Amino acid sequence: MMPKRFASLLLSGAFKAVTRTHVYPQCVAKELSNYQPSAPCFSRFFSSGKGEGKKVLGVFYKAHEYADNPEFLGCAENALGIREWLESQGHTYVVTSDKEGPDSELDRELPDTNILITTPFHPAYITKERLAKGKNLELLVTAGIGSDHIDLRAAAEKGLTVAEVTGSNTSSVAEDEVLRILVLVRNFLPGWRQTWEGKWNVAAIAHKAHDLSDKVVGTVGAGRIGQLLMQRLKGFDLKQMLYYDRNSIGEEREKELGATRETDLDTMLAKCDVVVVNTPLTDQTRGLFNKERISKMKKGAYIVNNARGAIADVDAVKEAVESGQLGGYGGDVWNEQPAPKDHPWRYMPSQAMTPHISGTTLDAQARYAAGTKDILDKWFKHEPLPKSYYIVREGQLASQYL
Ligand code: NAD
Repeated sequence: MMPKRFASLLLSGAFKAVTRTHVYPQCVAKELSNYQPSAPCFSRFFSSGKGEGKKVLGVFYKAHEYADNPEFLGCAENALGIREWLESQGHTYVVTSDKEGPDSELDRELPDTNILITTPFHPAYITKERLAKGKNLELLVTAGIGSDHIDLRAAAEKGLTVAEVTGSNTSSVAEDEVLRILVLVRNFLPGWRQTWEGKWNVAAIAHKAHDLSDKVVGTVGAGRIGQLLMQRLKGFDLKQMLYYDRNSIGEEREKELGATRETDLDTMLAKCDVVVVNTPLTDQTRGLFNKERISKMKKGAYIVNNARGAIADVDAVKEAVESGQLGGYGGDVWNEQPAPKDHPWRYMPSQAMTPHISGTTLDAQARYAAGTKDILDKWFKHEPLPKSYYIVREGQLASQYL
């Protein structure tokens, strides 16, 4: 039997391995590259002895014919690859994708659930009513980042803990933002569409295509994703990289990223050719990009929003894209998910919209699955979680949600 301290060192090493690219030992790296839900070496790192027999409920999207890939951990079928581990410790693991309406499987399972795992990619809206139903709830884990699908104030009032796997998909989202910026600025998608439609019309694309180089980009929110985006954009020879955040990132970091802070949002927006949204959805950011604010932007500027759909007003965005006030709008998040078939953002001109995918690449899944396992393991052992994981702790909301 491995000494407890050594096991926990290995556990933290295994987790670091998937959250940072440089620090992990070879054996763990190899293990992760071959990672399968039941891989014996991997589960050895996490073995923690018998727990108290908790009921864990996971709500994930169904993958159907795509579930065969064992690396596809984020779907209901593979359920983060933690079933064997949970059950070996005497816990019960119920998994569903059925979450709509009061008769959903989620609602039926809630009353005796102790730990609820949800994901922003298939958001189960955990309302005050649902929290009241979950009489035995103690911990709510978001497998990913962004817990706004949970009524956080109600969770705090109930003394519950809400935790997310902070940092798990930062690089996936920042990378996707670079993609969406380029797709919009270069007017790429209409050209791609032409090839499918058997057309050849250079003018129809070139009349609205620009270089990203020598443009001004601003990020609203300069936390983990915002800063990584600025880092990724350094190679594009921008005219200026601006950021607006309630906190300064500090002079040294600004120098490193070639970034300048703007303390007034509207002043920054008026300067930007491209604006990227990187704040959480909170009472302060809901509807931030409304008609009035968009009208203060440079005419023809682009917005990329992979943060949360409800940070932008649906009709204001649609009208601005149609009128040319916005050159285009792109993102993977919607005010309602799944977006209804008649959602106006589906049919806007100059859009780069997709379902909610930027933070759920296979690499991101490996990281948030490992992070979820780490959270559960610590919870079962009554150990504190990494500080940055807590969204609600002992009745207190994380500061940016206040
Ligand atoms: P983070 O906490 O590291 O950064 C958020 C930043 O926003 C912080 O610097 C904070 O100071 C700033 N901020 C918060 N409220 C603000 C306000 N009212 N005005 C100005 N600045 C404000 O978070 P992160 O990891 O960078 O993630 C940001 C958000 O991106 C998440 O909350 C989530 O909603 C979203 N996200 C989306 C996906 C996806 O798949 N589409 C994946 C991960 C995260």
